[in-house]
Amino acid sequence: MHPDLAKLLQLQEKDLGLKGVGERLAALHEEIAALDLAVASGEEAHTAAQRAVADAVARRTETEAKIETYRGQQDRRKQRLEITRPGKVAASIMAELELARSVLTQEESQWVSMDETVRGLEEQVAQAAAELEELKKAQDPERAELLTREGSLLEERESVTREREVSASQLDKPLRIKYDRLYQSRSVAVVVAMNGPACGACFTTIPLHRRTQIKNGSVLGGCEVCGVILYYVDEEG
Ligand SMILES: [Zn+2]
Repeated sequence: MHPDLAKLLQLQEKDLGLKGVGERLAALHEEIAALDLAVASGEEAHTAAQRAVADAVARRTETEAKIETYRGQQDRRKQRLEITRPGKVAASIMAELELARSVLTQEESQWVSMDETVRGLEEQVAQAAAELEELKKAQDPERAELLTREGSLLEERESVTREREVSASQLDKPLRIKYDRLYQSRSVAVVVAMNGPACGACFTTIPLHRRTQIKNGSVLGGCEVCGVILYYVDEEG
């Protein structure tokens, strides 16, 4: 076996370990994102309910203004009637009063139903707020657990990164650069065991003389097709 192989394999082990930590972190962040999404949709429901209340209140206020106007008009009619002598004019004012009274009654009953709508919608806001609160509370333990896991994964990443630097520092710079390039381009194992007479990564058969060199460790053999660094696993172990 080539003397650098053990160091390369050790470095690769750290890199693959780092990759695993990175994947676990990404999965964990997805879990957090799913929790955030649930909260966001609860917040959206709450906001939509609030908006519906605001709209309903605005409509109710409009009706209130209308009712106020009608009442003012009725008051003025009544005043006019008081100072008008019985007769044709008085009769017409009375007819107006009667007509306006039924319009006013309609508006008032509309106001009552709008007011009921507002109350119903306000209940929905309260319910949405309570549901949101409940959801957040229900998420708390899971979030705490995810944060703990994240903390330990970050620690693990830090310590594996340090170990990786130690492993990397044991390689000559050119080999280290070669390995880093290979690993960065593939992000999978780049120091690969031979598969019989073939490259363990792309399964191209390696010429006999190269296999012999790889086997006796005189060269650090690379696959000419896919570029990985090859080694023989000792048959005795
Ligand atoms: Zn290959």
